[in-house]
Amino acid sequence: MPDTNPPRNLLPKRTIRDAAGLAAAGLLPHGADAAGLEAVAERYAIAVTPAMAALIRPEDAADPIAAQYVPHVAELETAPHEVADPTADAPFTPVPGVVHRYPDRALLKPLLACPVYCRFCFRREVVGPGGGLLDTAQLEAAIAWFAATPQVREVILTGGDPLMLSPRRLGWLLERLAAIPHIEILRVHTRVPVADPARVTAELAAAMDLEKPLYLCLHANHAREFTAEAATALRRLTGAGVVLLGQSVLLRGVSDSAAALEELFRAMLRHRVKPYYLHQLDAAPGTSRFEVPAEEGRAILAALRFKVTGLAWPTYVQERPEGGGKAPIGPRWDDNALS
Ligand SMILES: *Cc1c(COP(=O)(O)O)cnc(C)c1O
Ligand code: SF4
Repeated sequence: MPDTNPPRNLLPKRTIRDAAGLAAAGLLPHGADAAGLEAVAERYAIAVTPAMAALIRPEDAADPIAAQYVPHVAELETAPHEVADPTADAPFTPVPGVVHRYPDRALLKPLLACPVYCRFCFRREVVGPGGGLLDTAQLEAAIAWFAATPQVREVILTGGDPLMLSPRRLGWLLERLAAIPHIEILRVHTRVPVADPARVTAELAAAMDLEKPLYLCLHANHAREFTAEAATALRRLTGAGVVLLGQSVLLRGVSDSAAALEELFRAMLRHRVKPYYLHQLDAAPGTSRFEVPAEEGRAILAALRFKVTGLAWPTYVQERPEGGGKAPIGPRWDDNALS
């Protein structure tokens, strides 16, 4: 594979948000169906940050970074088993922005914007640059719900991506939640440190430096996402006392081999990120090109188990239907590696 990036003069300085921008930056494959991609863009948001655009090698038709962010006309096809709300959050929403499905923890989604829009996203029907920003009154209502729900010991900020909030807004929200006596730990699910590392300023890191423990669960799917800029961002966060965990999705063409996962998990560990979950893809609309059967996922993980440090080992999980939660799905040692 040639190791060249797009000519520097083509690389954008701002996030690309449409097919024309991708074409202008030389990031669309030859013969891409421009009209089809406009139709995709009308349905699902597009965003490719400068950091991710710079990582894409457009001459490689199978580039694993492009695969995650560059839209494809296949997204217009919804397979019969694909559903709009695969995690079935709606019935578990006591107040806007809160999802309470497990007894001891609940999600808070302060906004639905992300730095990038992943083509396989399980929330793709709702995420986007315009939507879902809770206003102060709604955030106050959510904080009040947490304060009135003592069995909940953990707030998980997700979205969208909570690190899209300004440092001031995020700091305010974290401080308010941490001030609730029965909240023991806070967690943030984010892609920002790899997808848009420039957002992780000293100010943002300071906003996350709390007296109570803050766990940051970083979404990354390929070793190449750990650039020098991402390393700086992650170092800033550990400097603020933030504990780093990794979550990845098993994706065809991105992370679907033992070698790719080994490189990914080793890259995480080199950046103080402990692999936490490997997710089986949720069946969101138009994502079937990313599917890897669970049987194959188990075999890939089994191939890594004794080869790679145990620190690199995530729990392989699948979302159960009807909001049943994330359940571990193997591998099963009785019928393969140990037998
Ligand atoms: C994934 C998820 C959590 C967090 O689950 P963990 O297993 O603790 O990582 C919490 N609430 C909801 C609704 C979730 O989907
Ligand atoms: S960053 Fe997360 S929520 Fe946002 S598009 Fe990607 S997978 Fe979806």
